[in-house]
Amino acid sequence: MTMDANVDDDETHSELECPENRQYNAEEDFSEENTDESSVSTESTFDLTLPATHSYLGHNLEELRGRTILGDWLYLNLPLLVKQSVMLFPGQTLPMTVFDTQTIDMIKTCIESDKTFGVVYLGHDRMVPIGTTAEIYECMYDLGQGFRLKAKGRQRFKILKVIIHGYGRISAHVKVLPEVTLGPPFLDERLASLDHLRIHPKNDDDFKKQEKVENLDAAVTTWPAWVYRQYDPLRLSLKIRQRLQFIESKGSNIPEHPVYLSFWVAQNLFIDDDERIVLLNYDCAISRLQREVKYLVEDKIFVCCNCDSYIGRQSHIFPMSKEGPQGTYCNPSGIIHETVTLYHAQGLTLSEDPPSINYTWFPGYAWIVATCKHCGDHMGWKFTAVQNNLKPKAFWALVRKSLKNKEK
Ligand SMILES: [Zn+2]
Repeated sequence: MTMDANVDDDETHSELECPENRQYNAEEDFSEENTDESSVSTESTFDLTLPATHSYLGHNLEELRGRTILGDWLYLNLPLLVKQSVMLFPGQTLPMTVFDTQTIDMIKTCIESDKTFGVVYLGHDRMVPIGTTAEIYECMYDLGQGFRLKAKGRQRFKILKVIIHGYGRISAHVKVLPEVTLGPPFLDERLASLDHLRIHPKNDDDFKKQEKVENLDAAVTTWPAWVYRQYDPLRLSLKIRQRLQFIESKGSNIPEHPVYLSFWVAQNLFIDDDERIVLLNYDCAISRLQREVKYLVEDKIFVCCNCDSYIGRQSHIFPMSKEGPQGTYCNPSGIIHETVTLYHAQGLTLSEDPPSINYTWFPGYAWIVATCKHCGDHMGWKFTAVQNNLKPKAFWALVRKSLKNKEK
């Protein structure tokens, strides 16, 4: 059995005759919880470091040493992986199982050189001209199991020219994009006489104290202080981290550095593709953070991408991985899924197959395929604990591409 999206094949229906199998209904399962969602336990005994290891790929992957850092504005030819299922951001982990000869050849060539290839997103039948380099840090090749590897998103690049080599091999002339880092506001206009009052603000009280100093700094500039505050990366970061406190309190590592935080949010918040492409295009963390703050002001509702039926909401998202609530995982067939984990979901029907621990992304949990109750599209999986002491007892891992934010 695999975790493929196709659950409507004949094999699935052949199990209907088994009396032990019954059609589960997600709404029934959570009917009690829906009446009072606050009563549902969010307690966790799960080791959040486990999913980030992608242990389902096997334990014999070899670590590759060294780190490749490409110079800003560098022009180079990069082998490309064009994916409909993943929009890679710097810092994101990309697990892969590769079976086709062309990609295996590409990966082997990469490993012999700088371990780096480019990942670009294919959205709306068009390749996004901005991508992210992926650096392989662990890999193993076996004839029977193909190439298994883990790579990490590193640097953004702009595609200048795509080259088709035939047999599905693609590369591109690219330019490595810089990460523009702006200093704190007023850096050039700061009054030296106030320097003894400056602190490195870490909380709201610190920022309030600094406001007085900033007001005095701003008095000698063209703009009022509040304009500058909108461009303060530390202030923006604090605002975002305060709104993500629930995720952090559940054990996720949320980066403090504004640049890493801006990429973390782009990867881990549920944001529609068009918006994520805008974030990928920005060269500066301040622009990203300013846009990301707006996603966090309200509790967004997610609907099925195909039929618009209600599935869940932002406040039901929680992390089952140290890396965050949205992770990238691959199945035995090599299909990559960006998935988001939620305590609650509605409008889903579970497959009649019994739960399976085969290739499970969350050790200790068995998965069962979930489809949209209304249109039948594959939406993700329900994971259920196979050990009594494991909490949460169950949760949903839904495919990011199968969901969209409800339009107002
Ligand atoms: Zn649907």
